[in-house]
Amino acid sequence: MTPDGVIQQMKDGNERFRSGKPRHRDLMREVKATAKGQYPAAIVFSCVDSRAPPELILDFGIGDIFSGRVAGNVADEDIMGSIGVCLQSGGLESRAGHGPHRLRRHQGRD
Ligand SMILES: [Zn+2]
Repeated sequence: MTPDGVIQQMKDGNERFRSGKPRHRDLMREVKATAKGQYPAAIVFSCVDSRAPPELILDFGIGDIFSGRVAGNVADEDIMGSIGVCLQSGGLESRAGHGPHRLRRHQGRD
């Protein structure tokens, strides 16, 4: 999948979430499917706001994204180090940092 395709997945997932029609997920099946490795499509860097967990509001499952969260989306050395670890892993398709706040703003422009 291309980076643009991953961004489109995020937009589609957010639309499913907002319309109250998220995918039905068998989370234990996803846990088993990712037991031997992880190949997330993106890193989502976002705020710790308890009302905006990226996996839920983007309708992703276990192993779909790396999720880096810091209050106010302010990147420090620790979170940048974690993002660096994610970038070194295999399978990462999109490196754009779209937190829930930014994604919501982008939807109005795209
Ligand atoms: Zn916030």
